[in-house]
Formats: sequence, C-alpha cells, structure tokens
Amino acid sequence: MKKRVAVIGAGPSGLAVLRAFETARRAGVDVPEVVCFEKQSNWGGLWNYTWRTGLDEFGEPVHGSMYRYLWSNGPKECLEFADYSFKEHFGRVIPSYPPRAVLHHYIAGRVEKSGVRAYIRFLTPVRNVVWSQETQTFSVTVKDLQKDEHYTEQFDDVVVANGHFSVPNIPSFPGVEGFLGRVMHAHDFRAADEFTGKSVLLVGSSYSAEDIGTQCHKYGAASVTFSYRTKPMGFDWPETFEEKPLVARFIGKTAHFIDGTSKDVDAVVFCTGYQHSFPFLPDDLRLKTNNRLYPLGLYKGIVWEPNPHLFYIGMQDQYYTFNMFDAQAWFARDVILGRIALPDDATRDADIKEWRAREETLTNPFEAIDYQTDYVRDLVSATDYPEFDVDKVAELFKEWEHHKVEGILTYRNKSYPSVFTGDMAPAHHTPWMDALDDSLEAFLSVQKSAE
Ligand code: FAD
Ligand code: NAP
Ligand code: MG
Repeated sequence: MKKRVAVIGAGPSGLAVLRAFETARRAGVDVPEVVCFEKQSNWGGLWNYTWRTGLDEFGEPVHGSMYRYLWSNGPKECLEFADYSFKEHFGRVIPSYPPRAVLHHYIAGRVEKSGVRAYIRFLTPVRNVVWSQETQTFSVTVKDLQKDEHYTEQFDDVVVANGHFSVPNIPSFPGVEGFLGRVMHAHDFRAADEFTGKSVLLVGSSYSAEDIGTQCHKYGAASVTFSYRTKPMGFDWPETFEEKPLVARFIGKTAHFIDGTSKDVDAVVFCTGYQHSFPFLPDDLRLKTNNRLYPLGLYKGIVWEPNPHLFYIGMQDQYYTFNMFDAQAWFARDVILGRIALPDDATRDADIKEWRAREETLTNPFEAIDYQTDYVRDLVSATDYPEFDVDKVAELFKEWEHHKVEGILTYRNKSYPSVFTGDMAPAHHTPWMDALDDSLEAFLSVQKSAE
C-alpha cells in the first residue's frame, strides 16, 4: 500500500510541504499520498486575512493575527521562493515592501500553478494525533466542520505546520481589570482606525509593538507609548512616541510604570507574543518551547526526537520565512522518501545540542541573522531545493536592520535587488507613511503622474 502523509495546516509552511512532494511527483518520483488538513476555508495561514476575532462561525478559535494595513516588515527579497520569483508571479518587478494582500497573492500563485489544492481538506481542524507503536502509524482524528462530523484516518508520517503566532501570550497587571478603556492582545488587533485621536499603550518591545504602534501613528493616533520588560527598542521615534519600562499597575485610565512615571491612555494593546500550541498532540509528541531560533527536540529543526515519523515546519523564530519553510519542507520530504538517511539517535541529539549551544552565544540581531543563514544553508545543501545565495540574503537582512535604525517610518520606502533574478526593486509610487490604501490594486497601480 502507498505510504500516507498528513500535513496539518495550509499556511506557508504546510503549502511548502505540498509543493515539495508535488515537485518530486512531477519529476517522476513515486511519492506517498499526501493529505493536508486546514481548519480555515482558504489557504495562506496568517496571510489569509479575517475580520473575525475570538471564535469563528463554527466556534473554533480564530487563527488570524494579521490586521488591515499590514505591510511586510522585511524586504520581500529576503523571503522570495527559490523556485518561483516575484517577477515570475507578477510579470514584472514590484517594490520591496508589499502589503499583506500582495504577499498572499504570491503565496497562492505558486501553489495554484502546481495544482496542490486537491490535496487540501479545508474547514477540517485536526483534533487528535495518536501514535501506535504496534502498527507504526498515526491515527489522525479531524472534524469536518461543514458536516459537523469527526473521522479518523491512518498515516505513516505527520507534518505539523500549524504556525506559532496565533495563540496569544497574555500577562496580567494589577488594576488592569478596572482599566477605563479598551484592552486587547495584538492577536485581536484588526484596524488602526479605531485609535485615531487616541492615546495607545503597547506592552512589549518586539515586532508587534513596533508595527502596531507605527500603524496607529500612521492612522492618526494622538500618542503612542511602549512599555518594555527587558529593553527599549530605541528607534528614532516621532515626537508623539515614548518608551517606558514595565507597567506596575493601572488606575482608571492611568498606566503607572516601575520607574515611578505614569501616562494617561485610552487603550492598551498587549504585544506580548504568542505560545507554541498543539492541542491535538499528546505530551510525548508535543513540542514545548518559547519563541527562539533553535527549539530543542527537533533534529535539523524539523524531525521530532525520538519519533522520526513526526515533523515540524516553521517552529523557529523567524528572520527567514517562506524560503526557510521550503528548505525545511524539502528536507522533511526527503526523509519521508528515504532519500535522506537519518543518523542514529545519539548523533541527532548531538547535532541538536551543537546548534542550540551556538544559538546561546548570539548577542545581537546581526549574529542571529548569520546563524539562521547557516541553518538555511545547511538544509538547502541536503536536498535538491534550488541552491541560492543565502549570504546575499543575509546582507539584505543586515541592510534592512540599518534602514530601520535610520528611519523607522521610512525604511519601507527602500529597495533591494532580487537574489534570484538580480533585478533591483522599483520605488513604490507612494511613501509608506502616505500609502493609506493597502489593497493589491493600489499597490500594483502605476504611479499617477501628478504625485
Ligand atoms: P501560519 O501562517 O500561522 O499557518 C498555519 C495554518 O495552520 C493556518 O492556516 C491555520 O488555520 C492552520 N491550523 C492551525 N491549527 C490547525 C489545526 N488544528 N488543524 C488544521 N489546521 C490548523 N513573516 C514575513 O515573512 N513577513 C511579514 O511581514 C510577516 N508579518 C507577520 C505579521 C504578524 C502579525 C504575524 C503574527 C506574523 C508575521 N510573519 C511575517 C510571520 C509568519 O509567521 C509567517 O510569514 C508565516 O505565516 C508562517 O507560516 P506557517 O504556515 O508556519 O503558519
Ligand atoms: P515576539 O517577537 O515573540 O515578542 C514578544 C514580546 O513580548 C517581547 O518584546 C517580550 O519582551 C514581550 N513580553 C512577553 N511577555 C511579557 C510580559 N509578561 N510582560 C511584558 N512584555 C512581555 O512576538 P511579536 O512581537 O508578536 O512578533 C511575532 C511575529 O510576528 C514576528 O515574527 C514578527 O516578525 C511578526 N510580525 C510582523 C509584522 C509586520 O509588520 N509584518 C507585525 C507584527 C508582527 P522580552 O523582550 O522582555 O521577552
Ligand atoms: Mg541542494
């Protein structure tokens, strides 16, 4: 009987797995039957925007954490697929920092062309995965949301690709229950217009805080205050911005900080990150980690220890995204196809420890970029995923870091060359701060002559 592989999730990571198998199949390789279970009604993962928050129409937790007006926060040249360039997809060169809809179009375009939609069962969340030592197979139980029915099927291998920026990490602070305004987590943030004219406090000092704060400013917030636990972001913020240490307590509309200062605010957004969450996995198969570049328990960041029939894609903290998921997917595929022979347990364990030990020496973003670059290089060299110049990508990431320091509101106006086609991206027709329409049509429209 043909081997069967289950893929959980049709976001960029799960789609990478489908694309990897389909590429092999089209090259004449005898591949297993692949079934992808996706709880949403469409593919694209976080890039598939939803207005919903909380629970969806079926009472399922809403996966989406992206918001209206979300633009790529890194150059698209750093995430370009090695086997499908932006130029190929759009038929021309486009600017370096596209809004969400444009990136969703790009992700979807590649998989539409390779015809993998037939492998996906939409509106089908995975509920339970059980490994049988006896039969050496997984029983995967899912729910067909439309039929309102559960069913179970057997698989030889399972690939977990459900993302890890969906289940919010929500701390509490004294007095927050009495705060006289809106309190929410970034996961539930949808549109900055809500905060026009308001003073907003963002707790956290990473990408979500930075981006939601600048969004609110762009759409007319009166002031933006960040509250950090470890260290401030330290960008050259506009005048209406402030960085404060951690909140000590809320009284009425006033946030009091641990340095004794305070600020009156209308709304609080917890930009306090996300939890890795796999409610469908038993303890012995479940990855437990915080958001970091090298979670333990995964050989090459992918293969579960000690059961190498279980794979995880995209579980690392991410500089690299789409092309790293591809590199991981090709690697997982080749392990499943028997093209990559896994070393014994002890060797796998030693390899994990070596990567983890190096991760622990990293002291700044530049070293972290080099580290993830080496990780991607290592994976790409092991498979037939098209070789690409990861050192060039690393250079672009470092330029991006410098551009953010030069101007946190202007870095998205910069252009970078494609690592694959060599083309320099054109400037966008409108500076990011003035580009209030984030639609695909607006982004791709040619500059109006008078502007
Ligand atoms: P996801 O995109 O989260 O997809 C996971 C999929 O699994 C979803 O479709 C979900 O419905 C499905 N799923 C979940 N549970 C189940 C289940 N039990 N059964 C079946 N299906 C399930 N990256 C960039 O490169 N550039 C950016 O600008 C950028 N912006 C971001 C902005 C925000 C606010 C966030 C949170 C992340 C951003 N990212 C960005 C990073 C993002 O993680 C990746 O781009 C990418 O979406 C990760 O892909 P994934 O497939 O691993 O996970
Ligand atoms: P994150 O990078 O994991 O950062 C979590 C933040 O929460 C850290 O600053 C952390 O502070 C803080 N935190 C955690 N617990 C806290 C507590 N109890 N009290 C105070 N602070 C606490 O998560 P993220 O910022 O949500 O980013 C997630 C992903 O989304 C990233 O990949 C990012 O690139 C992506 N993203 C992209 C965009 C875009 O523009 N396209 C926008 C938003 C997010 P410490 O440093 O002290 O730990
Ligand atoms: Mg190779």
